[in-house]
Amino acid sequence: MQDVAVDRSRIGTFVDDETVVFRRRNPRSARLAEQARQHMPDGVPLHWMTDWETPFPLFIASARDATLIDVDGNSYADFCLGDTGAMTGHAPSAVVAASAGGRGFTHMLPSEDAVIVAGLLAARFDLPFWQFAATATDANRFAIRWARGITGRATVLVFDGCYHGTVDDSFVVLKDGKPAMKPGLIGQAYDLTAHSRVVPFNDEAALAAALEPGDVAVVLTEPVLTNCGMVPPARGFLDAARRLTRQHGTLLHIDETHTISTGPGGYTQAHRLEPDFVTLGKPVAGGIPAAAYGFTAAVAERIAALRARTPPGHSGIGTTLAAGALAMAAMRATLEKVLTPDAYGRMRKLANKIEVGLVATLGRHGLPWCVCRVGARLELQYRRTPPRDAAEAAAAFDHELAGAIRLGLLNRGVVITPFHNMLLVGPATSSADVDRLLGAFAEVLAELFGEP
Ligand code: PMP
Repeated sequence: MQDVAVDRSRIGTFVDDETVVFRRRNPRSARLAEQARQHMPDGVPLHWMTDWETPFPLFIASARDATLIDVDGNSYADFCLGDTGAMTGHAPSAVVAASAGGRGFTHMLPSEDAVIVAGLLAARFDLPFWQFAATATDANRFAIRWARGITGRATVLVFDGCYHGTVDDSFVVLKDGKPAMKPGLIGQAYDLTAHSRVVPFNDEAALAAALEPGDVAVVLTEPVLTNCGMVPPARGFLDAARRLTRQHGTLLHIDETHTISTGPGGYTQAHRLEPDFVTLGKPVAGGIPAAAYGFTAAVAERIAALRARTPPGHSGIGTTLAAGALAMAAMRATLEKVLTPDAYGRMRKLANKIEVGLVATLGRHGLPWCVCRVGARLELQYRRTPPRDAAEAAAAFDHELAGAIRLGLLNRGVVITPFHNMLLVGPATSSADVDRLLGAFAEVLAELFGEP
């Protein structure tokens, strides 16, 4: 963290006190957590659910709009929103209504909704062709397969600090400037650096050098890195990436899973990017598992040619429950009625209110930290200016402090994302929710750093 003296013992005492409060507020969650351990390792259905700073997870009883209620009856203004899966707000009524249709949920045949959804996405993203998957992870994985198939090249290039879901090809990092597999990978049997290249974000020269051999099928990136803190693109970097990929016959794949917070057509449309592939996931069906990837007419032609010369058999692309009737109905309702241009307008306005409020509180404490924002998505970072790449972001991160802030907020009825300091505004977030967040944030900082 940059130039501010943090009193570590004060953080420690704060976390100890807040942990006592958390236990007192959540006896039912504590009991459920104990019971859950009988049949689920660590008492959770997915091990990530223990990645909070709490002694046991909160068990959620109900969720609607931007409010979570836990099994002890505590209510929370939710700025985590399922780490973007519920950016639409929890269980938006249009999606609930659409999900109850009598069309069934899945039948390995298309529904009319699929036709509508593909058309809506084509209009929003200016990409004519779409395919569907059950999660953004799969959408990325499938697009990579197509990219390798149509280019006849094996190598994928990603940027250091990226996250694109549990896509093996993206699990590479720079370690002392050299490509390496992500630390902590479990069950990885082969060397991922053999076919995945990794360079720092915002480093045009490194990207040019990595593309030079002409063996890279696709560059996969978020337009703003959002999974290692938040790293905005330097001016001209995304244009350079487009120019260089074209020059080397490499496809450009923009992953909008998080940056869909920008607007209806994501960062891609807002900034007139010209990708070959785009991925959408998480909130695209209002929280019902669904994802999509779009591509250009040129890519579609190459896919058709590839398929024509491929022998019949298993393509390795698709899963049984992908693109089912339920997912398509939910996606249609989300696009038509929830993530509308109007809704985005409200979301951005409230996100701006949060940005202004957080910056004012930081200013009162003289804390040299910045708040980055992509539309409705914000990230608090412990440095004066936005980081230029993942290494700068990591150097500034303070896990102990971030954990203390998240726990303090939780006990004051505000949820923000675990892993980092992400806050997200949805169409159902209210001005009162934002006031609750800003009030709780000011209170936590006063506890940690003294009254300003
Ligand atoms: N792409 C990006 C940019 C992501 O941040 C994530 C998940 N955080 C994914 C893809 C994968 O999404 P999912 O876990 O829903 O498959």
